[in-house]
Amino acid sequence: MAEQEYDLIVVGSGAGAMLGAIRAQEQGLKTLVVEKTELFGGTSALSGGGIWIPLNYDQKTAGIKDDLETAFGYMKRCVRGMATDDRVLAYVETASKMAEYLRQIGIPYRAMAKYADYYPHIEGSRPGGRTMDPVDFNAARLGLEALETMRPGPPGNQLFGRMSISAFEAHSMLSRELKSRFTILGIMLKYFLDYPWRNKTRRDRRMTGGQALVAGLLTAANKVGVEMWRNSPLKELVQDASGRVTGVIVERNGRCQQINARRGVLLGAGGFERNQEMREQYLNKPTKAEWTATPVGGNTGDAHRAGQAVGAQLALMDWSWGVPTMDVPKEPAFRGIFVERSLPGCMVVNSKGQRFLNESGPYPEFQQAMLAEHAKGNGGVPAWIVFDASFRAQNPMGPLMPGSAVPDSKVRKSWLNNVYWKGETLEDLARQIGVDAAGLQDSARRMTEYARAGKDLDFDRGGNVFDRYYGDPRLKNPNLGPIEKGPFYAMRLWPGEIGTKGGLLTDREGRVLDTQGRIIEGLYCVGNNSASVMGPAYAGAGSTLGPAMTFAFRAVADMVGKP
Ligand code: FAD
Repeated sequence: MAEQEYDLIVVGSGAGAMLGAIRAQEQGLKTLVVEKTELFGGTSALSGGGIWIPLNYDQKTAGIKDDLETAFGYMKRCVRGMATDDRVLAYVETASKMAEYLRQIGIPYRAMAKYADYYPHIEGSRPGGRTMDPVDFNAARLGLEALETMRPGPPGNQLFGRMSISAFEAHSMLSRELKSRFTILGIMLKYFLDYPWRNKTRRDRRMTGGQALVAGLLTAANKVGVEMWRNSPLKELVQDASGRVTGVIVERNGRCQQINARRGVLLGAGGFERNQEMREQYLNKPTKAEWTATPVGGNTGDAHRAGQAVGAQLALMDWSWGVPTMDVPKEPAFRGIFVERSLPGCMVVNSKGQRFLNESGPYPEFQQAMLAEHAKGNGGVPAWIVFDASFRAQNPMGPLMPGSAVPDSKVRKSWLNNVYWKGETLEDLARQIGVDAAGLQDSARRMTEYARAGKDLDFDRGGNVFDRYYGDPRLKNPNLGPIEKGPFYAMRLWPGEIGTKGGLLTDREGRVLDTQGRIIEGLYCVGNNSASVMGPAYAGAGSTLGPAMTFAFRAVADMVGKP
């Protein structure tokens, strides 16, 4: 086995790993990134790119007041003791510095003034301003050659599967703001008129969300000279006699090689959601690797196992960043249904045709409710999202564009009875999808009544500022609409996730702890490879990427001895 030596070896190329690599190289550490797949970026490249940053530099512009004590109190209450106060405080203290650093390296963000924290009922939450969205990034800055090595975004985040759209634009469209029509037109025109770029690639020059973040990180990494290998999975960690981690074994070009790390190894190899065996061992059942929205072939928990082999302690292994997902033929991964479920005029039912949750609530709790409903024997897996002709005409749902833009006659024929089901009556629809007809009719009747009254008496949908973010502000209750006009539609939802959140337990500097709670020297871990600082919660949009990058930032500070 040939040996090479670096100061820092970073495993994985998601946001946390890349931020750590850039910071380390810039601080004088010779750094190597090893990525298992043929593309850089991991799930981070598929993501919305949002980061949850209390006390961020743009909160003033967004008109939000925040302070350390309030943010810490909120997060601590969300975490429910499943991450130490020490780590929670480290996060709240450092997240804004990390965001500032992103800005310095050419990845500016804007605070989303109206995107509320996910638990408005918890003391210390804010009605907006802690979530930040990346400013658009011009792919030409990365360069075409490097762009080809970066994982493309998912079709669900693009307009017509091609054109990038930012979180602000998506919100404006779904809230039916008048200006959004011009925005869409502008996006399409810009894309189609950009001949010089489109002649070279189908990928949009204008990058938004996770694409903007990862492209920005890759650009910065190239600039500071981080060495990066693709198709080079970590196989094992190497320890010296004292137990210190001193390197890695990676497989490259079909052979294993040892690479030594003078200062440390930073694991950022994502979760284990693509590993069926580990899912069955740790997650609530039923559970299937195919339900996940993360890239195929990537996150199979390799670095969880490598960490365990050197004595690391695992925590939160039964938790995931849940989201309901849909299977869309020809799309490589299942599609996360983050937003549409919140719009007025749809409802989600179990196999008895009954609603069992607030459709507009946070997506991790949505996934947990599906599993809990199933465990009660009520058939929550799959669940069905049901809507009527009026909803269909006006709103997107998963891969279906609003019927006013793409009517059923123009939708791929193979999707009928596969991606969506359609019945002239609710009874007909219920029969097709194997759901109790009386239950479904009753649920639709109640939803229609609640819509008229503006109050959901069963699950209080639309009862808080988070629910209302994606809704129709012109309505009495922005999240409630009648379900009464045939034909009726149903689509199938699975309890998927955007990543698992259990992993190697770390301290406030991202240092990995062993089963006795002692530091394993030389080993750091971030992102979904580590046990989340959020515990069971999702404090606000950006609760996975924010901590991944913040703890990478802290880990490097620890390595170079500069707080
Ligand atoms: P990843 O980004 O998945 O990176 C892990 C990398 O490690 C992968 O490239 C993988 O191939 C590589 N790897 C795995 N095993 C090995 C090995 N043995 N050796 C070397 N490399 C290895 N989160 C937010 O906070 N905000 C959002 O707006 C947001 N939006 C999302 C939208 C969608 C559609 C999806 C799917 C997810 C979203 N998420 C969001 C979740 C977020 O993307 C993930 O939680 C986050 O990207 C995880 O980062 P990571 O670095 O831990 O893992």
